[in-house]
Amino acid sequence: MMCSGIWLQSLRNFNGKLKGKVRLEKDYVNVTKDDHTRIPVGVLGATGAVGQRFVQLLEGHPWFEVVSISGSDRTAGMRYGEGCHWVLPEPMPERLRDAKINKSIPDEMGVKLVFSALPGKKALNLEPEFARAGVAVCSNASAFRPEPDVPILLPEVNPGHINIIPAQRTKRGWSGCIVTNSNCTSTGMTIVLKALEDAFGIGRVFAVSLQALSGAGYPGVASLDILDNVIPYVPGEEEKVEWEPRKMLGKVVSQEIEPADFIMSVHTNRVPVSDGHLVCLSLELVDKADENAVIAALERYQAPPASKNLPSTPKPVILYRKESDRPQPRLDRMAGKGMTTVVGRVRPDPLFDYKLVVLSHNTIRGAAGGSIYNAELLVDCGYIG
Ligand code: NAP
Repeated sequence: MMCSGIWLQSLRNFNGKLKGKVRLEKDYVNVTKDDHTRIPVGVLGATGAVGQRFVQLLEGHPWFEVVSISGSDRTAGMRYGEGCHWVLPEPMPERLRDAKINKSIPDEMGVKLVFSALPGKKALNLEPEFARAGVAVCSNASAFRPEPDVPILLPEVNPGHINIIPAQRTKRGWSGCIVTNSNCTSTGMTIVLKALEDAFGIGRVFAVSLQALSGAGYPGVASLDILDNVIPYVPGEEEKVEWEPRKMLGKVVSQEIEPADFIMSVHTNRVPVSDGHLVCLSLELVDKADENAVIAALERYQAPPASKNLPSTPKPVILYRKESDRPQPRLDRMAGKGMTTVVGRVRPDPLFDYKLVVLSHNTIRGAAGGSIYNAELLVDCGYIG
């Protein structure tokens, strides 16, 4: 599957709409002079932890320009600088500080591509409204992940799953589409499992997560609950992390995704770390291999041709740290601008074959950055515009 090249046509379809100023409800957002080549996009839930990441990562993106933002009834109608409690170290883009926060409905957003950082229950009702209005929705929410006609995309793992979009459109009678990201804990481990599945085949998998606080959104877990503590329960998480990797590593059969056939057991924990989910994995390989071969398979893994040269393609996809005490969230989460999956401590496992540690930035590769990568693949394959 080779998509590269089509994106230029999609961008041309938007050419002319972005010159001068872009309509944002009753307000206008100034656009920069090279914006005639960018696609106008919206961010749903732009005031939350993931929504802010979208706004920050999309500022200066070569293909996309945020022209519309939304929040809940709590903030709709306010200016972004007023309604959003910005918690990122990078500054809020000046351009958007005075932009009005819209309601999360297609008429107010006025774009053909939205990034959704809505809570799961809200996404269940609101995202189909956008797809019915012809909008492509790149969602972080869990609402549609279990649907067999909705891909959970990791472009460096399963870009071919994008091909079920025409069947989704036919089945649901909409001209837009919904594609999702995986849960932030599933992301890094699935990339590692894919590299090992391709090289040796995967048998049983056992995983224990140590998940950062930003994974619970803002304001998230109360400080008195998590300081000096570990909480051995993340609501709804274990179930998701036990099936999502199987769907992402599955195959498209009769225009639906059939999950891969391996068993996973997962424990999930919340720890007092700001960003970066660590996962300790023990796994069984179908074809036995020595330790060096396992490390080599991780280090040489590359994104497939369809997703290899997009703006957000992680460089490298997997970084192997040789030190015995890495990866660590504080030191390694920004590898590859937060898009690289960092692995370390590959060693024999007395229960299965090998154990190792995986780190992935939860709000970048596991959320906003991953969704932007998905949108780049959609554009490149001609599904937008
Ligand atoms: P969050 O910080 O709680 O933000 C939620 C956002 O949704 C806010 O912008 C909020 O707007 C908006 N919202 C709430 N109710 C709404 C409604 N009724 N209508 C419209 N907008 C509404 O949550 P988050 O961590 O950013 O997570 C967002 C989504 O991404 C969730 O589905 C989550 O499961 C998923 N996700 C999160 C991570 C992560 O690492 N945090 C990773 C992967 C996926 P107001 O501020 O205006 O109320």
